[in-house]
Amino acid sequence: MAFHILTIFPKIFSSYFNESIIKRAQDKNIIDIKIYNLRDWTSDNHKTVDDTPFGGGAGMLMKIEPLYKALTDIKKQITATKHTEIKTILLSARGTKWTQARAQKYSEEFSDIIMICGRYEGVDDRIKNFIDEEISIGDYVLTGGEIGAMVLLDSITRLLPGTLGNSESAISESHSVLGNIEYPQYTRPEIFIDSDGNEYPVPKVLLSGNHAEIEKWKNTGL
Ligand code: SAM
Repeated sequence: MAFHILTIFPKIFSSYFNESIIKRAQDKNIIDIKIYNLRDWTSDNHKTVDDTPFGGGAGMLMKIEPLYKALTDIKKQITATKHTEIKTILLSARGTKWTQARAQKYSEEFSDIIMICGRYEGVDDRIKNFIDEEISIGDYVLTGGEIGAMVLLDSITRLLPGTLGNSESAISESHSVLGNIEYPQYTRPEIFIDSDGNEYPVPKVLLSGNHAEIEKWKNTGL
């Protein structure tokens, strides 16, 4: 699967995408990540991507022309090279809420996901004509769409076959089934003692060696 991220801050991504599971998924050619600088589609000397809103209002808006040109070029590049199912997403606080179920669906249905990272007060609303949907990662306002793009990419990539090793299986993780939350987990020491001498033991059943009882505890907490 290929992810295409359109942003005015392309450097934001390198640290996160070059570590751990996301790096490994790229090394194994499970995913390909392309980051595009929106300013490459501007035509003035200042590489302007924003302007004041019609009718007044606080702050600036991202202009439609650079976004339209960028999307057209990116889509052309994608379709020129392969048969694809493309999804074009605008990260937006007003969008449909991102869930594990959506991550699962997108991991199965699309070969290319284009994500537009908004900035300033948002994007000229005519963008709606050129995208498939607006996605929100939660009911709060972020400074830009870049963190949202990382959230979508990460949650989808974990679900692609071959990304996680057996020991990291996504099958029993929280939200893999609607409403399911993973059981609590513990590692050494068996009893943690804080600086006031308070003791925090691991639940006894986990040390019992009784697999049936352990499974029951994991499933029911009893
Ligand atoms: N004025 C906008 C509003 O009230 O909805 C907020 C704009 S925000 C400062 C700038 C950009 O951050 C947005 O265009 C969007 O791309 C991104 N963003 C902010 N909150 C987000 C969220 N909860 N989920 C996804 N993207 C978000």
